Amino acid sequence: MIVLKTSRELSKMREAGRISSRALRLAGEAVEPGVTTAEIDRLVRQYIEKEGATPSFLGYGGFPASACISVNNQVIHGIPSKKHVLKEGDIVSIDIGAYYNGYHGDNAWTFPCGEISKEAQALLDATRESLFEGIKMAKAGNRIGDIASAVQQYVEARNYSVVRDFVGHGVGAKLHEDPSVPNFGTPGRGVRLLPGMTIAIEPMINAGTHEVRVLEDQWTTVTADGKISAHFEHTIAITPEGPQILTLPD
Ligand code: MG
Repeated sequence: MIVLKTSRELSKMREAGRISSRALRLAGEAVEPGVTTAEIDRLVRQYIEKEGATPSFLGYGGFPASACISVNNQVIHGIPSKKHVLKEGDIVSIDIGAYYNGYHGDNAWTFPCGEISKEAQALLDATRESLFEGIKMAKAGNRIGDIASAVQQYVEARNYSVVRDFVGHGVGAKLHEDPSVPNFGTPGRGVRLLPGMTIAIEPMINAGTHEVRVLEDQWTTVTADGKISAHFEHTIAITPEGPQILTLPD
């Protein structure tokens, strides 16, 4: 069931989104060689709790941390660890949700750790741009397939591949709501977008094969071929005036 939000609910979601976004910015500023992923997670949790919010992911399905931190060939759902020390050249995908006043904000960004290779930077640029290509299509009257195909066409034209096994989603009072928002699909197909719908668009883009596998910890998802992967996400609202990004810092 798709839950449409009133403008009052959207302003609450913007608050949750603001906290999520600021937590993500803080996490990104902490990414540097020598820092552990557990330290970044601690900063995220401290900030979210200081704002009177709750980390959406902490305890979700048993997830043991506040941020998912996925490095290099890790696609999503990486578990922060004291043993994982970031090093120069890593790319670090951080996914953060905050729950505030009854609503979630969900966002992600892939940050460079120090100097990264040209190839890695190109993947980051393409994945970020594909998110905004998708957001542009998030207009009332369009369909989910219009978002999905915009993302897919943008990245496949650059010889990257779209993860199939995980997709974006509706977001609101629950972290994961209907509809599913895949990053691959056919224009003009799927659920029609209506004002008041709130969705997380989150391309997960691999340098090599689209195939992924989940490690024994039951969370960390890695590329099947060991090549790098990037992940960018915003929570957005469909409004009569067009798409509005809810996960902004101000
Ligand atoms: Mg999400």
